[in-house]
Amino acid sequence: SPELERVSGLIREVADFPQPGVLFRDLSPLLADAEGFRVVVEEMAAHGADADVVVGIEARGFLLGAALALRLGLGVVGVRKPGKLPAVAHRIDYALEYGTATLELPEAALRPGSRALVVDDVLATGGTVEAACALVEHAEAEVSAVSVVMELAALNGRGRLAGRKVRSLLTV
Ligand code: IMP
Repeated sequence: SPELERVSGLIREVADFPQPGVLFRDLSPLLADAEGFRVVVEEMAAHGADADVVVGIEARGFLLGAALALRLGLGVVGVRKPGKLPAVAHRIDYALEYGTATLELPEAALRPGSRALVVDDVLATGGTVEAACALVEHAEAEVSAVSVVMELAALNGRGRLAGRKVRSLLTV
């Protein structure tokens, strides 16, 4: 659509971040654009109808997830990088392309049996979303779907998330 084409034009490419050889997609100009932000949140909301809570991944998943939750009339849970939460329900260490990372789910936030829409800005290798989904399921909640703005198809995150409903607005 012309709207998504405009959204795509608001994503900046930054070479050699965070490592030499990596082309980083920077969504900051998109999120800062009122119309771009609105289109992204509306598009994500159109596919979140069967969720009853939004789970946003730190940090850009917080910006999207909070707006999306409000739009859908749901609450939002932030899955966090380590050391930020006063009480942790569960923690997962996972492998990145280079090195490792950790995500934590806050205690007393995600209800067992709830259906979570997991939200992030970019799906790359899928390791981060996979870890967030595992945290949701460890809390005995369900992942209703995964929603991202942009998918980097060459890294095959979708393959890693086989069996899950994954929706991306833009694929490169
Ligand atoms: P993963 O490889 O799918 O686990 O991606 C790791 C994390 O880094 C996710 O939270 C992504 O949102 C983020 N990420 C990876 N590549 C990019 C990028 O090009 N732009 C913005 N975020 C990225």
